[in-house]
Amino acid sequence: MKIDLDGKTAVVTGSTGGIGLAAAIGLAGAGAAVILNGRDEDRVEAAVRTLLEAVPGADVAGIPADLSTAEGCDKLAGELPNTDILVNNVGIFGPKPFFEIDDATWERFFQLNVMSGVRLSRAYMKGMMERGWGRVVFISSESALNIPADMIHYGFTKTALLSLSRGLAKLASGSGVTVNSVLPGPTMSEGVGEMLKEMAAEKGLTVEEAGVEFVKSERPSSIIQRPATTQEVANMIVYVCSKEASATSGGALRVDGGVVDSIVP
Ligand code: NAD
Repeated sequence: MKIDLDGKTAVVTGSTGGIGLAAAIGLAGAGAAVILNGRDEDRVEAAVRTLLEAVPGADVAGIPADLSTAEGCDKLAGELPNTDILVNNVGIFGPKPFFEIDDATWERFFQLNVMSGVRLSRAYMKGMMERGWGRVVFISSESALNIPADMIHYGFTKTALLSLSRGLAKLASGSGVTVNSVLPGPTMSEGVGEMLKEMAAEKGLTVEEAGVEFVKSERPSSIIQRPATTQEVANMIVYVCSKEASATSGGALRVDGGVVDSIVP
């Protein structure tokens, strides 16, 4: 199978680093014109340069916008009115004891992790359905199914994405537009690296070693017994965005190293 996205446009939210940038590089490598997004203009420009180093000659642009607000989502949709592929990747995470999570934090997680996907799907999916082809992907998490007791606010947003994605897939029934969720497990992104820095310093480990330690102690059901790389997660995203994935819709596709102890899906 050769994935060819020549002629397709893809926007990946929160793609100045981590899984989003890896997915954008994968999509550009398959020939798509890619739009990167992040809050900070300089970081967006740096990500454009990184992508061009990885995929010389790629058709890439950046749109800085803070997707935690309706205005930020409107800015992105205003500057890019149509896209063939929408990867709703942006998301924040981090442990916090339930009794210390205030309303503002719940709201912040909900606005960015869930409402950005709602708003951008509303902006782009109608056009995809009218044109008869499109791909919408929500980056959920194994934490949508295995809700961590120390990240209930995060797990809640990731479960919400499964509901949103399944419903939108049905809405797009028969239109040529597919909608799916991808569920990564622990993945060595910039964000996770930051989260692990403290543990690494305390135990005298490298961040990579701390990643393996984290998986073994906090996600012991992992079959691969290590974090995934961002590229491993990106491979699943690129596949589900491909023309070849046309019979996969309404799905929750795991790339969690087997953390969720279930045969299906
Ligand atoms: P990351 O923190 O490494 O990167 C997040 C990206 O989002 C960055 O480019 C950042 O600049 C951007 N961003 C943050 N806030 C933004 C905002 N308000 N507006 C626009 N852009 C913003 O994250 P990651 O680990 O690559 O995670 C990406 C997605 O994958 C998230 O939705 C996360 O929940 C999910 N996920 C990650 C893991 C993991 O272990 N890394 C596991 C499961 C699911």
